[in-house]
Formats: sequence, C-alpha cells, structure tokens
Amino acid sequence: MDCLFCKIAAGEIPATPALETDEFLAFHDIDAQAPLHVLLIPRRHVVNLADEAADASLLGDLLETARAVARKLNLEERGYRVVLNVGGDGGQTVPHLHAHVLGGRALHWPPG
Ligand code: AMP
Ligand code: ZN
Repeated sequence: MDCLFCKIAAGEIPATPALETDEFLAFHDIDAQAPLHVLLIPRRHVVNLADEAADASLLGDLLETARAVARKLNLEERGYRVVLNVGGDGGQTVPHLHAHVLGGRALHWPPG
C-alpha cells in the first residue's frame, strides 16, 4: 500500500522514534509545530477517526500510548495537547490515523 506512515512503520522511510510498542509507533514530526511534536500511529493501516476500524479498543490504546509518550517526553507537569485531524476540513494531510502530541510551550486556543 502506498501509505507514508505504513512505510515509516515498516522501516522503509526513516523517522526519529520517540516510543515503540507492539501496536504503535511514535516518532518526531518532520515539521515540528512546538518544541516537542510527536506523531503516534497504529502499526496497522487505519485511515482516521471516521474509519470503522478505529474501534474502542484501538482508540483506548491510542490514548493510553499518547499518555505514555507525554510521560516519556516529560510533559506531564507542564501539560500538553493531543490532536486528531480528521479529513479535509480537519486538516488531515496523511490518511493514516495519527495523534499529534504537542508540548514544550504554551499552546494557543482556538487552533486556526
Ligand atoms: P496531518 O496534517 O494531521 O495529517 O499530520 C501529518 C503530519 O505528518 C504533519 O505534521 C507533517 O509535518 C508530518 N510528516 C509528514 N511527512 C513526515 C515524515 N516523513 N516524517 C515525520 N513527519 C512527517
Ligand atoms: Zn498506512
């Protein structure tokens, strides 16, 4: 499948890992929008939150792993943001489910 994040999960395209589990891979965003900006993806291909394959088990594990990423990056005390962009208006540019974990500065609200 011609999917950028599947290729990163397969090790075919390099990325800087932040955390790895059997089910998930976290790696640093190539265009960081904050001092710490990590993408967390399931190893198996799921398009986004609207994909029926994104079931309660996967989403629960995704959020637990996002928490583990934030803990590993020492973001828990200051706080951080977890973002899921979904589809065109949601600003999703890579159609493989990913959570952005952002921190290291005070983040603005609302987002653009
Ligand atoms: P989204 O716009 O929510 O689909 O997020 C996709 C993210 O993937 C963007 O923040 C990009 O900067 C990031 N990205 C694209 N290509 C790569 C890559 N090769 N390695 C790491 N991050 C990437
Ligand atoms: Zn994929």
